[in-house]
Amino acid sequence: MTKFIFVTGGVVSSLGKGLTSASIGMLLERRGLRVRMQKLDPYINVDPGTMSPYQHGEVYVLDDGSETDLDLGHYERFTNSPLTRHSNYTTGQIYQTVIEKERRGEFLGKTVQVIPHITNEIKRCIHKLADDDVDVVITEIGGTVGDIESQPFLEAIRQFSTDVGKANCLYIHLTLVPYLKAAGELKTKPTQHSVGQLRQIGIQPDILICRSERSIGSEEREKIGLFCNLPIEAVIEERDKDFSIYEVPISLVDHGLDQLVVDQLSLKTRSLDLDDWRELIHRMRNPETEISIAVVGKYAKHKDAYKSIYEAIDHAGLEHYAQVRVGRIESEEIEREGPERLLAGYDGILVPGGFGERGTEGKVETIRFARERKIPFFGICLGLQCAAIEFARNVVGLSGANSTEFDKDTPDPVICLLDEQKNITFKGGTMRLGAQVSDLTADSRARDWYGTTTISERHRHRYEFNNVYRKQFEAHGMLFAGTSDNGELVEIMELVDHPWFVAVQFHPEFKSKPTQSHPLFSGFIQAALRRENVDVEITSH
Ligand code: GLN
Repeated sequence: MTKFIFVTGGVVSSLGKGLTSASIGMLLERRGLRVRMQKLDPYINVDPGTMSPYQHGEVYVLDDGSETDLDLGHYERFTNSPLTRHSNYTTGQIYQTVIEKERRGEFLGKTVQVIPHITNEIKRCIHKLADDDVDVVITEIGGTVGDIESQPFLEAIRQFSTDVGKANCLYIHLTLVPYLKAAGELKTKPTQHSVGQLRQIGIQPDILICRSERSIGSEEREKIGLFCNLPIEAVIEERDKDFSIYEVPISLVDHGLDQLVVDQLSLKTRSLDLDDWRELIHRMRNPETEISIAVVGKYAKHKDAYKSIYEAIDHAGLEHYAQVRVGRIESEEIEREGPERLLAGYDGILVPGGFGERGTEGKVETIRFARERKIPFFGICLGLQCAAIEFARNVVGLSGANSTEFDKDTPDPVICLLDEQKNITFKGGTMRLGAQVSDLTADSRARDWYGTTTISERHRHRYEFNNVYRKQFEAHGMLFAGTSDNGELVEIMELVDHPWFVAVQFHPEFKSKPTQSHPLFSGFIQAALRRENVDVEITSH
């Protein structure tokens, strides 16, 4: 029988519920259990694919092409739980399904209501993950207890324990225990109120995880336990990590969380194996060298817009025992100030994905700087498209070259829409999305780093390299290092006469893990590490 863990949050948002859920998943997996992770988001968008990165941060893409919440990135980096479109549901999706059923007449004349129809649909989505080969489903409820939007989800998980039996469900609630400087003490009242709100709905949490910037003493934990109806052992402290998010699972183990979960759900497990993870933390704390990478994007200042890219850079740094200092630079700043000062001193430059014209000229200038100064360069998605524009203009000599995304009338559309994208008017879920296979060219850096001839990587874009220009590019030293399996679509471009200049049309950052860095990120970081030995002679065309 599959067991169900529900993770809710209270007091404030941004407490790291996703990270905590991912950590719990990881700890259970490392005790030998088969875990599935899921996030339920209370917003009305059908998925985050149409939301601005300013609103939502990164859109995390899965193999099956679903565009999901960035917390799923934590799930994939911490666990081996296979994620699919069933791993992330929103209010919008739930209502869409219920309304479609209503239109088909499936409710047989009944009045369709939040309870039971919406709540039944939510429960159905949770049950979808509970196959025979799954021991535990962990479902994180987005938002904060008390939000109007969260109510149907909380009501559904309340009903869940009646349906499957309380012994098969565990409710974990994450709250904040703030430290008030003026009073010189930690305050437990917000946590009491938050649990009070949950209990009003009919959910008594089994475990409380309390985020705090200070250590929570046993007196405070006892007080929280008393007011929240919990034994002191079930009140777990999660101290802010000033070092790394990858320390969260270890700290939860140190406070007994994994044992508590296993005991409360009567799970049979083997003992916990965290050796490689501890080794990872050791490496993080004791780097042998330091390098700096500039990430030049449209949303560089937004903390979460390129989340997986920053993570993938860190993973590659760890593999090479290097601490990577990342400079986040807005491409519009490059347009205003030029690249010289802003990019001085960096060992590598990365241009990530993006949409829309704003800041693209700054990216093109950045790439020219990296190419001419022979600074290791990694372009991702829009980063590849801007590299193609730069190369066309400054090397091939097509001065008006552009992408039709930014200039419909460009004389040289080196990046353009494929015919099948031209008539699409619906924005949601209509891009080239998800895992696609590419073949790698012999003698390419990509083939060396991947160590294989065929790869599968995740995509999220509409525009493509225009094959009309392939020969001209090749004649000027561009290597098409990877193409789609039918040879039609350009997947990877590499500059032959450069220490490391690789641009990819897909998103490798989604497949990097702390214990297994992505081959291309690893190659990029190694090239950056070797930079001091490179002859920085300027090539101009
Ligand atoms: N805007 C570009 C396209 O749609 C690139 C997308 C991206 O970088 N993810 O093709």
